[in-house]
Amino acid sequence: MLVIVTGVSGTGKSTLGALLAERLGLPFFDADQFHPAANVAKMSAGHPLTDEDRIPWLQAMADQLVESGKSGGAVLTCSALKNSYRKMLSVSPSIRWIHLTGDRDLIWERMSARQNHFMKAGMLDSQIALWEKPLTGYLLDITGTPEQLLDASLHYLKTQPMNMQMGVIGMGVMGKSLALNLAEKGVSVSLYNRYVAGKEEGVAQKVVDENPEFSNTAAFEDLQKFVDSLEKPRRILMMIPAGAAIDAQLDALIPILEKDDLVIDGGNSFYKDSERRVERLREVGMHFLPMGVSGGEEGARKGPSIMPGGNAEGYAMVEDFLGRISAKDKDGKPCVTYVGPGGSGHFIKMVHNSIEYGEMQVLAELTHLLRFGFGCTAEQVSAIFADWGKGELKSFLLEITADLLLFKEDGALLLDKILDQAGQKGTGAWSLTTALEYGIPYSPLAESVNARGVSGEKAMRVAFSKTFQHEFQKVEDSLESWLPKIKAAYSLARIINHEVGFRLMKTVSDTKDWKLNFNEISRIWTNGCIIRSGLMENISANYSDSVSFFETAGVKEQVISGRKALAELVGLGLTHGFALPVMSAGINYLLGRITAESSASVIQAQRDYFGAHTYQRKDDASGKFYHTNWI
Ligand code: NAP
Repeated sequence: MLVIVTGVSGTGKSTLGALLAERLGLPFFDADQFHPAANVAKMSAGHPLTDEDRIPWLQAMADQLVESGKSGGAVLTCSALKNSYRKMLSVSPSIRWIHLTGDRDLIWERMSARQNHFMKAGMLDSQIALWEKPLTGYLLDITGTPEQLLDASLHYLKTQPMNMQMGVIGMGVMGKSLALNLAEKGVSVSLYNRYVAGKEEGVAQKVVDENPEFSNTAAFEDLQKFVDSLEKPRRILMMIPAGAAIDAQLDALIPILEKDDLVIDGGNSFYKDSERRVERLREVGMHFLPMGVSGGEEGARKGPSIMPGGNAEGYAMVEDFLGRISAKDKDGKPCVTYVGPGGSGHFIKMVHNSIEYGEMQVLAELTHLLRFGFGCTAEQVSAIFADWGKGELKSFLLEITADLLLFKEDGALLLDKILDQAGQKGTGAWSLTTALEYGIPYSPLAESVNARGVSGEKAMRVAFSKTFQHEFQKVEDSLESWLPKIKAAYSLARIINHEVGFRLMKTVSDTKDWKLNFNEISRIWTNGCIIRSGLMENISANYSDSVSFFETAGVKEQVISGRKALAELVGLGLTHGFALPVMSAGINYLLGRITAESSASVIQAQRDYFGAHTYQRKDDASGKFYHTNWI
């Protein structure tokens, strides 16, 4: 057993620590033993230590705890005033924390009575100012005698079983992978899956049994026992389907949780539902984190990109754990950040998925055009994509598309056996309705949602292809002459997809005053998530709120050079019988946005003609509205 007794100077932690060590038969260590001489001299001279001074001291104690953990345990007393100091000492999930707290005047009185202690009593106030409420462990008031405090501590250690640090609800694809990822990174986890007689039995236990290498996991199918297994304040991650299941799970959880507990919704919930739930938990004194997670099954297990929003205090409770399990960017920083208040975490995950829809559709359009227009084999298309992926066009989706184009089953391409009906779960469509609500043009990404809808009408498509004698036409020109243009068109189509998504995020952020940081959001999207790419790295480095996305360094040049190529490729595809919904919406969108003189004068004239809706004039800068009697 490893026990750490903490508290500001004068709380009596050394006395309690020594008593505890004696009673438990464990070696006793006091933090003062671990100070380098320079720190002791500094404190003796009445100067407070800086955080930098404390690092070697904390590290020495952490090393001692690791050693003691191998030989049966120890009791350590240490002020450990901040959660960051406690984090450095958290070398094992089995550490038991006892935090001594009490009235300032009582502590002062006790300190003043002490002699031969290098800590000056006058430093008490600076220690109290530094003290942060612990995220875990037992808070013990020092009013009693040392014997009473000893009894209370022993009672705590005996009656409170070793609680787990985190609970995960839902042992599906994502929940199981995240739970195992947490366990692997040293976080003790309770696993819960609902019990449905005859259908869902022993699901969490199966996960524990199949992963015997993790001794820091425990399985439950009784929600109360699951909740009781967690240290307080509790941290619970739900990985279950969005919608009614989340509200039902909260209905079951809230009555058995306590003030200051934290619930995280790591699924793909609609951000407006999340805003309502943040409020719901706030009203009962609990924290709620609506949190986007991207990376699929493998990402969740090895390192996803994580987008938590909602309650900042709740985020502080899991910041360390999320940092441990997330992917890391090119500088080694965790691909997780506190996104912002309310439903902002789920909101940006929704837009992330919408960009993902667009990126997937562009690759699907190009694959089709290359195979059935230019007559490439699947291997040739794969080779083209793989080649692009070596340079600045590199992206996870390009990489997996190059890969799947080579996948054979029984000697034949698996892709050709997959039914051409694309599924969807909601995030793409929610982004579109949000864009409409905020009046943001969204046609390229909207088309990626519509394309999935059209793909679903297979029977009708087959019937109509006969009725209207549709066939793909072979492109007569050589592939070599088109390849540079196809590459430039692909590059620009991707830029447009991202611009559309980022514009929606910026507009909603400004309207709701979320103050989203897009350099940071794109940084956490540079690894772990599905839309990680070279382009995202560029956005992360160069995004600026004061410059339009299309004018960002490294982007502007591609907008200029790719414009004609995208228009030509779309023209070629359409005239050869290929539907290219995202690429064609993309070039339309771009041209619309860079056209100084638009066709909207005609619309205004028509509106005034039939409905007297009035119009403004180019030759009157006052903004006055005019009506003409057209007949
Ligand atoms: P999944 O494999 O279908 O697992 C769903 C889990 O939720 C299962 O453990 C299931 O338990 C449980 N569950 C289902 N209905 C429930 C209910 N009414 N009450 C309580 N538990 C219920 O789903 P998943 O892929 O892990 O996805 C979970 C969430 O993460 C979803 O919101 C999803 O959109 C999101 N997400 C998924 C991915 C991905 O790549 N899969 C990526 C990012 C985010 P039973 O076994 O008892 O049915």
